[in-house]
Amino acid sequence: MNKDPNPAIPLTLIIPPGEFLLEDLKDFILFGYYKSYSAFIESSKILGGKAHQLKGIIIDNSGYPLSFLPLQKIPSGTPVYIYTGSIGDPSWLFENLDLLRSDCHILLPSGNPGSFTSVKFLASLGINCGIEFQDDRIDWDGVENVAGYIFTSEIPHGIIEPFTYLLENYNPREYLDFNIALLNTPLRFLYVDEELNIYPTRTAMLNNRKTGSGKEYLKNYPQTKEYRDLKFKWKDLFMSLNPCSTCPAFRICLGKFAGGDTDLVRCRSAFSKILEGIENYKQNQTGIRVNG
Ligand code: SF4
Repeated sequence: MNKDPNPAIPLTLIIPPGEFLLEDLKDFILFGYYKSYSAFIESSKILGGKAHQLKGIIIDNSGYPLSFLPLQKIPSGTPVYIYTGSIGDPSWLFENLDLLRSDCHILLPSGNPGSFTSVKFLASLGINCGIEFQDDRIDWDGVENVAGYIFTSEIPHGIIEPFTYLLENYNPREYLDFNIALLNTPLRFLYVDEELNIYPTRTAMLNNRKTGSGKEYLKNYPQTKEYRDLKFKWKDLFMSLNPCSTCPAFRICLGKFAGGDTDLVRCRSAFSKILEGIENYKQNQTGIRVNG
């Protein structure tokens, strides 16, 4: 009952790819992090065959529309995650449909009201995508609407994270950490910069809030206080009798919105509906999806 949602597994490091880091961190699973699509193309040329050491690619296009990207090629067999501000010109999607339907995941911000319509549009075209939850900037009606689409649509569609992850991994006897699907948990993913400074999330890296530095810290990370505190943070919510401790949806949320500016009544309502939608789906098994 209630297995650890984040059992010890090899860490994935998200690094700015350069020959030095690829060599120095070769004992870890490595994802490349690029500040722009052109940086990705340029780096691929420089790294040549070594680029295959990267098991995933993250391209940060946030703040810009997806249609600003000069998509040329997506490495086959390597998942590519693109953070972007919006879709932009829809005709660009149709021009690049084959590339986008390959192993590509488009992540849109919860703070942009258009994101929830956009992910449904992308998924209906067979493009995998997701919503990046941004602390207090969440349109909960949008969350409920997209979750309802994933749980009830009988038309083939791409995945929308984290709802597809919750649906596919739900077990009423276990806790689930949906941040795994969004590459957003420092229990699985760490961001590393050129100086080997280590950040728990992309947001922390962009705001220069490091958790440690150096290769030794990385090797010993599962034994650090930071790691243990994170791993058992959800238990503290019960000890302190936080409202999350009585939330029916705790097992699929783990109190992710506690401690911020989020109205816990609102997230409790949204995630309770999500939980109900998952349980109904499991009973009826009506959903059909493509990709993923
Ligand atoms: S949905 Fe809200 S109230 Fe429920 S566990 Fe998550 S953060 Fe806590």
